[in-house]
Amino acid sequence: MADVRKGLIIVNTGPGKGKTTAAMGTALRAVGNGLKVLMLQFLKGSWHYGELDAVKAFGENFVIKQMGRGFVKVGGAETDPEDVRLVEEAWSEAEQAILSGAWDLVILDEINYAIGYKMLGPEKVVATLKKKPEMVHVILTGRNAHPSIVEIADKSELFRNPRHPYTQALLASVPVADPRSKRLKPLVDGDVPSPVNPPTGCVFHPRCPIAVAGCDRTCPELREVRPGHWVACSEVN
Ligand code: SF4
Repeated sequence: MADVRKGLIIVNTGPGKGKTTAAMGTALRAVGNGLKVLMLQFLKGSWHYGELDAVKAFGENFVIKQMGRGFVKVGGAETDPEDVRLVEEAWSEAEQAILSGAWDLVILDEINYAIGYKMLGPEKVVATLKKKPEMVHVILTGRNAHPSIVEIADKSELFRNPRHPYTQALLASVPVADPRSKRLKPLVDGDVPSPVNPPTGCVFHPRCPIAVAGCDRTCPELREVRPGHWVACSEVN
């Protein structure tokens, strides 16, 4: 069998701590294997200068850039325009870094927060991920990854062949204008979980009709299940 290698897109999401630390562990292993790593921090958080200084020892092979100015005031109109501007600037640099192919691994730290707070459109991120150079790895971190990041495919494939149970539920809930047409059976029950206290593991597991043991503990990676079609679900092949 041919040895096929491809860059991965990994989403470290879910509640609790450890998402950035896990990405950092992956980064250190990558640098140790001779890969070049760039970490862009969208919202400057709990980093200590000691950690940032330690990374400087790797020189140009591991670069961390702090793009935001700390935890932001969020919530619709109250979001400070200066924070939005900084996120846009960070995204512009991230996009260029991913598409240039100059880095083997690009970590978009806390980008899920920036998307969740509506400071960055998820469609921009998805569009760039879909056209990334084949061998570039990308890690996205932060709670509550946007639903469009659980499945990536071109529009016709996504509508014809949705694979993630969340995408299937969304499409099944779209109203049909034809009164003769039967409504599809709703695929999910229950309430949308609170973003303040999201579920553990796969955030969709409390409402997922195909959840299995372990879905409440492990965040699934975004995997390419057929050419150009990426799904973050452990049960989809
Ligand atoms: S990982 Fe588990 S809970 Fe999440 S969508 Fe897949 S089957 Fe459902």
